[in-house]
Amino acid sequence: MTLPNLYLRRRRERRVQLGHPWVFSNEVAIERSPLTGLEAGACVNVLSHSGKPMGTAYVNPHSLICARMLSNELDCVLDEELLDERLAHALALREDLGWLPDCRLVYGESDRLPGLVVDRYADVLAVQIGTAGMERVREEVVRSLVRLCEPMAVVLRNDVASRPLEGLASYVEVAYGEVPSVLTFSENGARFEISPLEGQKTGWYYDHRSNRARLADRAKGRSVLDCFSYVGGFGVQAALGGASSVLCLDSSASALTRVTHNAGLNGVGDRVEVRRGDVFDSLRALRGEERRFDVVVVDPPAFMRRKKDRRAGLEAYRRLNRRAMQILEDDGLLLSASCSFHLGPQEHQGVVAAAAADVGRWIQILERGHQGADHPVHPGLPESDYLKALLVRVCRY
Ligand code: SAH
Repeated sequence: MTLPNLYLRRRRERRVQLGHPWVFSNEVAIERSPLTGLEAGACVNVLSHSGKPMGTAYVNPHSLICARMLSNELDCVLDEELLDERLAHALALREDLGWLPDCRLVYGESDRLPGLVVDRYADVLAVQIGTAGMERVREEVVRSLVRLCEPMAVVLRNDVASRPLEGLASYVEVAYGEVPSVLTFSENGARFEISPLEGQKTGWYYDHRSNRARLADRAKGRSVLDCFSYVGGFGVQAALGGASSVLCLDSSASALTRVTHNAGLNGVGDRVEVRRGDVFDSLRALRGEERRFDVVVVDPPAFMRRKKDRRAGLEAYRRLNRRAMQILEDDGLLLSASCSFHLGPQEHQGVVAAAAADVGRWIQILERGHQGADHPVHPGLPESDYLKALLVRVCRY
């Protein structure tokens, strides 16, 4: 079988040639290979302007990212056999890390499965499909996952914000088996309960595993403030690491109910408190109450989702870090995280340094954390490398 050809425009091929797996619609030579004739999700052979083969991609003529590379070979077909092979390869990495069963099993392009994310919680798989190309083979994806992982259930958490950009509807559906309303899994020796059908994203943020372990290692005997705690990933692990007290802040009441529950599950309920509200307001209020903490974690949602959010985002990160530093004891520890791809690591560090200057503290950077190895970085796709977590000692001049 020969796939239709998709020619790139002259001088617009370089990025893909260097390994970036996305083709943008303005890079296609539409006069030679009209996108409009193609069905969303169909596979094509990608060729340079001069006809040099670049590989196979699946397309979405309605999306700005109009093609995503699947292979560096031509005529590759995204079928159950290919899915079996790639999913098994992704699984082998996590097996090798020793993180099974509770970890991210598939991380999109980095696992050569563009548009597919799979998180595993004990024997339930939470699947997130973000593109028309993956949606087209969703039945095959589910069958292949069931064969490989033998889960109790597979949930499709297809309610990601990016789906409308691909012309896809938003839905949550049980695709296989029966899903319990809550399920228990563990991370770094701590146990957590989440709701696979209702939690944020797929239910949990596995990307911070090593940063949570790093924090828990340093929490012994210290008071900890966990800002944007969600269900207590950092806070509960810090308490388990021996923190003298933990206060979790979040705007979501249901997340905080889970924090309390998760603290109880780990036998640290007596040392974990929660407070609901906007973190910026709560930090100001805590300062007013003259509360001080030995350790503060700030792990906000992305303040820069798009490039155009840069100015407002930079200011929000700076203000947040400033307020966090203002309630830290001298020589306290700040774990300052950012999941905004558009805020580069050096810029993130710059924001933390600027916040320190604003409040007249000097800081020492102790460690630089990033996403765990179950979120491997695709070297051709800078967007796959997004998480920063600076561990900083905040001192008096
Ligand atoms: N630190 C968490 C993940 C944070 S996700 C972990 O380790 O799992 C971001 C969280 O911030 C969400 O729970 C969301 O409810 C909360 N949130 C977003 N904006 C907020 C705000 N302005 N004030 C308080 N919480 C906020």
